[in-house]
Amino acid sequence: MSREECTPYRENLAAYALGALDMEDVQALETHLQRCAGCRAELADYRAIGEGLLAALPRRDPPAGLKRRLAARLRGSGARRSGFSMWWSRVVGRVAWGQVATAVAFVLLVAANLLSLVQMRELQHQQAVLVERVESEQVAIAMLAYPGIQSVPVRPDIEGVAGQMLVDPDGRIATLILWNMPRPRQGEVYQAWLIDEQGGRVSGGLFTPQEEGTFTVVVVAAPDPLEKFTGLGVTVEPQGGSPAPTGPRLLSVDF
Ligand SMILES: [Zn+2]
Repeated sequence: MSREECTPYRENLAAYALGALDMEDVQALETHLQRCAGCRAELADYRAIGEGLLAALPRRDPPAGLKRRLAARLRGSGARRSGFSMWWSRVVGRVAWGQVATAVAFVLLVAANLLSLVQMRELQHQQAVLVERVESEQVAIAMLAYPGIQSVPVRPDIEGVAGQMLVDPDGRIATLILWNMPRPRQGEVYQAWLIDEQGGRVSGGLFTPQEEGTFTVVVVAAPDPLEKFTGLGVTVEPQGGSPAPTGPRLLSVDF
C-alpha cells in the first residue's frame, strides 16, 4: 500500500484507537485496515501506548457517577460497535474506573501530540525541499541574466533526458538544468563530478530530482574557478555520496 493511499487513513488512526472517530470514517478505515498491514501496525502502536499508560497510572477512587457516564459514552452510538470497542472493553474491564478517566485524557493528549509531530515532520521536510528548489531556481535565473555566462548542452547517457548547463568560467558556481531525470532508486542519489585537466574527479554535490517528468535545477559548487575544469559528469551513487565515482554515468557536459 503506498504512503499517499494511506495518508487519509493514518490521520484517523489515533482517533479510531480512542473511539473518537465518526461512523462514516470508521467504516472506510476498517475496510482499509483489512488490506493494509502498515496501518494495522500503526494502530497497534497507538493501542500499545494507551495500554502502557493505563498500566502505569496510579489507582484512585472514581468520582461518583463517572462509571455510568463513561459506560454510556463507550456504548454510545453505532460508532463504538467495532473491533475497537471490544478491545477497549477488555482494557476497561481490567482497570479501575479512576484510572480510565485520567488515562483517557492522557492518551488523547499523547495521541494528539504524536499525530501533530508526524504531520509537522512531514511539513518541515516538504518545506525544506521547496526552499532548496526555489533557491536553485533563483541561482539559475540570476545566472541567465549575468554577462559572460556560457550555456553548454548536456549530453545524456540515458534516453529522454535533456538539459543545459550555465557556466560562469571565472566563477565557482554552475547550474545544471535537466529535464525528465528519473528519480533514483531507494538508497541512491545522483552525484555531480567536475573533471579537471588531469582527468581527476572532484565532487560537485549531490542531488535528487523531486518530481518525475519535470525539470530539475542543480547548483554545482566547484572548489576552484570553473575554467580549471574541462567538464562535468553525473553518476548514480549510494545515499550520502561517494569520494570518487562508482556508479553508472547518466550524463556529461563538456565545458
Ligand atoms: Zn494503510
